[in-house]
Amino acid sequence: MFESLNDRLEGAFKNLKGHGRLSEVNIAQSVKEIRRALVAADVNYKIAKEFTDKVKDKALGQENVLNAVRPGEMMVKIVQDELTELMGGQAEGINLNGKPSTILVAGLQGSGKTTFSGKLAKFLKSKKKLSPLLIAGDVYRPAAINQLQVIGEQIKVPVFTIEDNKDPVEIALQGIAHAKANNFNVVIIDTAGRLAIDEAMMNEISNINEAVDPNEALFVVDAMTGQDAVNTAKAFNDVIDYDGVVLTKLDGDTRGGAALTVKYTVGKPIKFTSAGETMDTLDVFHPERMAQRILG
Ligand code: GDP
Repeated sequence: MFESLNDRLEGAFKNLKGHGRLSEVNIAQSVKEIRRALVAADVNYKIAKEFTDKVKDKALGQENVLNAVRPGEMMVKIVQDELTELMGGQAEGINLNGKPSTILVAGLQGSGKTTFSGKLAKFLKSKKKLSPLLIAGDVYRPAAINQLQVIGEQIKVPVFTIEDNKDPVEIALQGIAHAKANNFNVVIIDTAGRLAIDEAMMNEISNINEAVDPNEALFVVDAMTGQDAVNTAKAFNDVIDYDGVVLTKLDGDTRGGAALTVKYTVGKPIKFTSAGETMDTLDVFHPERMAQRILG
């Protein structure tokens, strides 16, 4: 994950490590390389610049890297702290206070919504000891309902569907009623996506969101799509004002830009990351741990 960013950052610190003392010139050079590394990782230039300006201020300011015994290590620490901050600082949980708790899963087609819905159900069942119900709201692709049913069987979580019904609002509401009547304490509503943003999809997700008024709305996005991921995140946020982001396909060759900048750009925290097709590859997102991993 983020190998090239990792390599580039390592390069940026290389000329600092081993120096007993640093000069402002060393620091400026290193900061410039950090900025290049971020831009190469698909971080928007303005954000990269703001980020490295902060790092430089800290390094030359109160942290005083110039007088530090191990200046290279101190720079790494400053960058790590700033990366953590950029990604949202604290890990954020999801709201499970409903009866049943309702979780709406939105995103483009192929982003990994159905897979994530299954992973989340498994996570809530095994880690939180809850009793989840999956609701199949992707009514346009019979294959999608089938896919959710296969996942449901695999993780032993029931899937609510209404045959031949093409109204996702009705399916969601009936699914919630079914959950209430049958002692499920959390429902996960998988919805239909399109290949790109279009008005019909946005209207549909907006209608479901209004009708259900979920405890937690999660936007799922493929990390491999880089800055496009951030743009899609903005578009969905404008319509449903979701609570958190799920970044998928972190096992792929993603450059990292979306993970680094979605919080800054959209103002919503990443809550989960998914790194694989199997049901046990879901992680709660911890900005600090991610920053540590990025810096190797
Ligand atoms: P949806 O259209 O948004 O419901 O997307 P799906 O859940 O059907 O996922 C689309 C494809 O991406 C499927 O082939 C999934 O197996 C795959 N996929 C989903 N999440 C991940 C992930 O984290 N890593 C990888 N490598 N593949 C994933």
